[in-house]
Amino acid sequence: MQLETISSISTPIGEGAIAIVRLSGIDAVEIADKLYRGKNKLKDVDSHTINYGHIVDPETNETVEEVMVAVMRAPRTYTREDIVEINCHGGVHTINHILRLTLKHGAEMAEPGEFTKRAFLNGRIDLSQAEGIMDFIRSKTDEASKVANQQMQGRLKTYIESLRQEILEILAQVEVNIDYPEYDDVEEATTAFLLEEAVKIEEKIATLLKTSKEGRILREGLNTVIVGKPNVGKSSLLNYLIQDNRAIVTDIAGTTRDILEEYVNVNGIPLKLVDTAGIRETDDVVERIGVERSREALSNAELILYVIDYTQELTDEDREILENLQGRKVIIIVNKLDLTQKLNVDELIPYGFNIVQTSITEGTGVDDLEENIRDLFFSGGLNMSDSTYVSNNRHIHLLESAKQSIHDAVEAAKLDIPVDMIQIDLVKTWQLLGEVIGQDVSEELIDQLFAQFCLGK
Ligand code: GDP
Ligand code: ZN
Repeated sequence: MQLETISSISTPIGEGAIAIVRLSGIDAVEIADKLYRGKNKLKDVDSHTINYGHIVDPETNETVEEVMVAVMRAPRTYTREDIVEINCHGGVHTINHILRLTLKHGAEMAEPGEFTKRAFLNGRIDLSQAEGIMDFIRSKTDEASKVANQQMQGRLKTYIESLRQEILEILAQVEVNIDYPEYDDVEEATTAFLLEEAVKIEEKIATLLKTSKEGRILREGLNTVIVGKPNVGKSSLLNYLIQDNRAIVTDIAGTTRDILEEYVNVNGIPLKLVDTAGIRETDDVVERIGVERSREALSNAELILYVIDYTQELTDEDREILENLQGRKVIIIVNKLDLTQKLNVDELIPYGFNIVQTSITEGTGVDDLEENIRDLFFSGGLNMSDSTYVSNNRHIHLLESAKQSIHDAVEAAKLDIPVDMIQIDLVKTWQLLGEVIGQDVSEELIDQLFAQFCLGK
């Protein structure tokens, strides 16, 4: 079945002066030719060429815009279909006009993510690569985009494929044992073999899953709140972090939340600073902890930066709060180190939290804070170049199921359950791993995934 030719506005990542209308499908060139006036008809130009000309409304003969048109013929294209890209410098109005003309002359409006979906359906990329592209578009920092990038390049895919291959080999070996028994107690020997191999597979899946927590932080940001009494330096810290690091503003549809958030990139870790409006506007955050919303922000926080004033003695209120924060990831920031000491820092030690000392006005100690954050969440350091990070929720979920099913196999083997029952668990593991890279995925799931893409990708 031939898919319809689709069209949409596809502006490059980051805003640029150039806007693109992109067509993909069997009629892409024909549709473009109805609108394009240039030296040659587009159907006669070589593939992968850029052609200068004008877009003209064929009904009125009115010239809409001066354009450069790229013609790329299947299969060496992003979607593996014929692609025509109409590049123009015009504003929103012009680009919309061109889009409408393509729709009027035979193209269908592309759904969000449909270009990438076609690349997938036409076999150019696998599902984990497609999701990598999606994450790349949304990624908040350079480190996060490296994870997405790796995934796009198929790193996860390669790893999963080799795991699946191992499982197939185990299953094949089991078949051989059963078909050509060399010894009497073949069933027993096979169970022992299965146990040994299944344990190895389980370990590999577990290792992969361990990276998921770090991967998720890199992708979505670390939920962080700054708390402390009035006047200790919370706003100063927030502003310092924002100025010191690139503030990352998100304007991606669907990420808008009720609570105001701001992203800052701390040594490659995106901190999602929650409820910063409160910190900016009012200076009574401790009192506001009584407010439902702030309490929620605090209880959802993965990292709590608790700021204390070096020039004040520790109060009972401080002690109570520190008591209540037990078990959470907290960094105590003793601030205003440039002023006269009143605080007994030793009193903070029993609470067991990391303590850093800063003078935000003088800019000292903030490096320590940033290092502390990294150590707290990335025990093995943050090394993107030699590990495969899993950062996508759907992958994590599937890998958890796969781990459970291989674990079932291990348990079954230990209990001397018949070999064919253990085989079922292995097959299931193999299938679940396959779903990560898009084997056996239902159409519905595919549609749901690609609907999350930005329009024009
Ligand atoms: P917040 O109420 O916790 O948000 O505190 P602010 O950030 O508004 O700071 C309160 C006051 O303390 C301001 O006048 C800041 O300039 C000052 N301040 C913040 N950090 C330091 C510091 O490290 N040293 C000194 N000397 N003053 C600071
Ligand atoms: Zn403040």
